[in-house]
Amino acid sequence: MDRNLLLTPGPTQIPPEICEALGRPIIHHRTPQFQNNIKEVIEGLQYVFQTKNDIYLLAASGTGGMESCVCNLLSPGDKAITVDGGKFGERWGDICKCYGVNADVIKVEWGKAVTPEQIQAALDKNKDAKAVFITLNETSTGVVTDVKAIAAVVNKTRAVLVVDAISGLGVVDLQMDAWGVDVVVSASHKGFMLPPGLAFVAVSPKAFKYVQEAKSPRYYFDFRKSKKALEKVDTPFTPAIGIVIALVESLKRMRAQGLDQLFAHFALLAEGTRAAAKALGLTLFPDETCMSCALTTINLPAEINGEKLVKTLRDVHGISVAGGQDHLKGKIIRIAHMGCLTEEDILTGLEYLEVVLKEQGYSFAPGAGVNAAKKVFTK
Ligand SMILES: *Cc1c(COP(=O)(O)O)cnc(C)c1O
Repeated sequence: MDRNLLLTPGPTQIPPEICEALGRPIIHHRTPQFQNNIKEVIEGLQYVFQTKNDIYLLAASGTGGMESCVCNLLSPGDKAITVDGGKFGERWGDICKCYGVNADVIKVEWGKAVTPEQIQAALDKNKDAKAVFITLNETSTGVVTDVKAIAAVVNKTRAVLVVDAISGLGVVDLQMDAWGVDVVVSASHKGFMLPPGLAFVAVSPKAFKYVQEAKSPRYYFDFRKSKKALEKVDTPFTPAIGIVIALVESLKRMRAQGLDQLFAHFALLAEGTRAAAKALGLTLFPDETCMSCALTTINLPAEINGEKLVKTLRDVHGISVAGGQDHLKGKIIRIAHMGCLTEEDILTGLEYLEVVLKEQGYSFAPGAGVNAAKKVFTK
């Protein structure tokens, strides 16, 4: 099996021109050449983050970027608000606990989104809260959060709003400056079409005040060091040089397409995939009101062995989709709409999804899913 089609919500497919950039010989990072790369990358990231704020580059996976937010903004004993409606929202709470931050956790049923009213109520109850941590695109469930409405609530308080946009940035809209989001964290291996290993954190001036006051221990992740280095177009430590260089290509590609076109493209892939699921008689996991366009989460019928389905798709047909986590293990599949994925990639995935569903004894009109998606893609 030559095919290795990644329809997983991270890591995502890497297009040829980015693979080429990744294969270039290494250069030294304290050079004018690399400084040009840093300049270009920061400018390009500011376009994608829709911000003029500083953006720090960290050699880390996405979770490293998340941890850097907690230890830079807060001190042990500080109050924060987190939202647990899936694996990644839960992670904010876990990291807070590690740093002795007192997190008031808003529990949200998986598949639903936290509402601005719930955030308002938590802020009213915790007037001393210094930060609110949310997730743009909850990758474990396929739910998108109304960041704009939540920012309007948080902006009236002293708290800073921190958004995990690791799987959502460059895929669904997030206007950091226009909406007034204080900190946005993302990473290289989802919408940016790169290998894992590079995290990005954008920090507003309001949030940087908290960075200067915070007393949590931090060394590698210290934003004060990052800021000082960035002023000299530098990084405090050896950066992920190869990924930064390839990011130049990735950002060129994203800018050439334009954010609005990207968002519309992923919305179309999502619409086609949802139509396919319905045509196959399958239901979607998230609430209608908060379905993300970054991925489609499909409920599997009870007679289907979900773990086996994911394994067969991968090992026999060369197509990777994600299964469910925790209590959803074996019960759902998640198909990504991110990075460089095309309509054809989705159709290929659906074609083999039908093959494996049929093999496992699920009955439906053959071709119904693929045809429904095609109809959406060619309209
Ligand atoms: C992938 C992902 C992460 C974690 O990223 P790692 O790179 O695995 O550390 C965090 N949050 C969201 C929403 C994600 O999709």
